[in-house]
Amino acid sequence: MKVQSDFDVAICGGGMVGATLAGLLRNEPALSELRIALIEAQLPTQPPASGVELRVSAISRASERILNRAGAWPLLPAAQRSAYQHMRVWDAHTQFDPDTALSFSASALGEPNLGYIIANNWLQWVALDATRDERVTCFASQLNQIELSDDSAAIGLQDGRRFTARLVIGADGAASRSRACVGIQARIRPYQQTALVTQVRTERSHQFTAWQRFMPQGPIAFLPLNDGDCSIVWTTTPDHAKQLSAMDASALAHAISVASDYVLGEVALVANTATFPLQWAQVDEYCRHRFVLVGDAAHSIHPLAGQGVNLGLMDAASLVQVLAEARQAGAALESLSELAVLRRYERWRKTENTLALGLVDSLNALFSNERITSGWVRRGGLAAVQQLPFIKRSLMLRALGLAGEVPTIVRHLG
Ligand SMILES: Cc1cc2nc3c(=O)[nH]c(=O)nc-3n(C[C@H](O)[C@H](O)[C@H](O)COP(=O)(O)OP(=O)(O)OC[C@H]3O[C@@H](n4cnc5c(N)ncnc54)[C@H](O)[C@@H]3O)c2cc1C
Repeated sequence: MKVQSDFDVAICGGGMVGATLAGLLRNEPALSELRIALIEAQLPTQPPASGVELRVSAISRASERILNRAGAWPLLPAAQRSAYQHMRVWDAHTQFDPDTALSFSASALGEPNLGYIIANNWLQWVALDATRDERVTCFASQLNQIELSDDSAAIGLQDGRRFTARLVIGADGAASRSRACVGIQARIRPYQQTALVTQVRTERSHQFTAWQRFMPQGPIAFLPLNDGDCSIVWTTTPDHAKQLSAMDASALAHAISVASDYVLGEVALVANTATFPLQWAQVDEYCRHRFVLVGDAAHSIHPLAGQGVNLGLMDAASLVQVLAEARQAGAALESLSELAVLRRYERWRKTENTLALGLVDSLNALFSNERITSGWVRRGGLAAVQQLPFIKRSLMLRALGLAGEVPTIVRHLG
């Protein structure tokens, strides 16, 4: 006997990944009958058109295409996406030298840019905005409870509401409540590193270039913004991050200028600071019958390559593709929550995410640990990559999200 559920899919977490996933499901013709619930504990208000936003993400070409398909990209005001054309990477043991620093340029790939720096609150806002129609029911509450059964999943919210769904998707971030509810464990390894973020005005133009210098304790990155300022992500030891946070604005600005080797001259702080302890994390099980994980709920990656939300958006697009293909192959709506379907997604994304997490983990170990590698090895490594166009090209394609096994919508704009 078929048991009726209130929804076909319930997405727990309407952050950048969960909200985009809702938009992708809504816009997928093969899944047009799905009734979708989206649960978000902290629904945002529209961000201001100007002003400083500390949390930003480098968004890849692949993510641009995914956000476009979700209907979010066209809603993002042009002023809120800062395109960058170049990337320069160098090591703390050398002074910046444009001839020897590792350099990536969009023009080398025939691309208009290497990606965009976008504030997280704007990304979440437009992704949510794109889901506003009768197909997506938004619950502004916290998920408390999930009970999985053979027939359906029963969901309990903090505000007392309860409903059922055929498939539950956990998109509720690194401390995922949904993951805990179904008893999936994540393997977590804290990095002994904290990311300090702030925003600065630089003496010299950032030249629409993302600058990253590897320091012995971790990289410092300058991410170029449309208004000429740079968003800063400085990864360092937890103690050092604490000392930096306690400094007054001019002392911190001076510390940032020194750490960046004055590559853009003196800097002045235009924002407060925030800090984020960093961890590596991944689940072994991406799915169970009726349950599947995406985004940071499934994996956390070091921010040095700016990949976290990009991987999460790839999860979302891959999951929608797997569900759509199952439906096109004749699967009934109620079969989409079966393990046989969800395991295809798990095999696909676990392989890709494990590769990305491992690569970024190795880069961090190589460049941020004086005990493991000496300065000349790091310098030599960067110089070698700079001299090897094939390696450089494949690194750039991976950073753009265009290498590896990518969802169909990433291969074609639209
Ligand atoms: C310093 C720093 C810099 C970074 N830079 C980049 C970058 O340049 N590029 C990049 O790709 N990534 C970057 N990342 C990583 C990126 O921020 C994360 O990968 C991304 O936020 C994950 O998105 P998500 O939607 O999976 O999870 P989250 O952003 O954590 O969203 C989860 C959502 O679920 C909601 N939620 C949580 N619990 C519940 C509940 N019980 N009930 C209902 N709702 C709930 C939350 O309110 C939230 O809206 C960076 C991370 C850090 C720390």
